[in-house]
Amino acid sequence: MKCSRCGKNAIKSVTTYVSDLGDVLVVVRNVPCYKCEECGEIMYTGEVALHIEKIVNTAKVLKQEVSIIDYKKQIA
Ligand SMILES: [Zn+2]
Repeated sequence: MKCSRCGKNAIKSVTTYVSDLGDVLVVVRNVPCYKCEECGEIMYTGEVALHIEKIVNTAKVLKQEVSIIDYKKQIA
């Protein structure tokens, strides 16, 4: 995959996704991603982006102040 910011090569990696929704903070660990070797830009595939959206929406409904979710456990 190519970096969307600088066009250099992005390699498969794992990251922690954080979304601050104001009253709810959602942390998703072990998210598969592509990381640019040059500028460090993080990119997600469409499938992963959709899954993150689902996790965030679920967390919103739960209304916990901080939600820490393991991506791998959500997949299983
Ligand atoms: Zn880059």
